[in-house]
Amino acid sequence: MTTSDPVNSDAPRVGLGWDRHRLEAGRPCMLGGLRFECDRGPAGHSDGDALLHALCDALLGAAGLDDLGTMFPDTDPLWRDAPSRVFVEAATAALQTRGLRVLSADLVVVCDAPRLSPRRAELRDALAILLDLPADRVNVKGKTTEGRDPDWLEAQAVVLVGPA
Ligand code: MG
Repeated sequence: MTTSDPVNSDAPRVGLGWDRHRLEAGRPCMLGGLRFECDRGPAGHSDGDALLHALCDALLGAAGLDDLGTMFPDTDPLWRDAPSRVFVEAATAALQTRGLRVLSADLVVVCDAPRLSPRRAELRDALAILLDLPADRVNVKGKTTEGRDPDWLEAQAVVLVGPA
């Protein structure tokens, strides 16, 4: 990585994250740090919260840091069944040590179950609290695959980061 910075160091940075987990019976259905009522949940070494994983990778990407899997490897027993909130907290802390803060976040969840719409506002508020942002600087949308991909849950996140 070059250390020269031809861009104004105060210029905002964008980060993109994506994740996809298989839905398995008997797993808690964690999404954005909330537990949804569903007979299946995302498989994973941690709690499988694909939305927070995508958010975390967006944060790390904006800061020019390693990705989630490198920072918190799924071979490490320390992260078994870990609440994915701790990964987001670690990523935002890493931003802070670099003099950066999150300015806004926009997220998409793609799955046929659970349905997001009944809890969309609650989910948005939970993400805003996690990122220490006003709710109008966070958005989350739910999409379905209309039955074409019912066994998977996918999440995408874009964040804008600027000087603290
Ligand atoms: Mg993941």
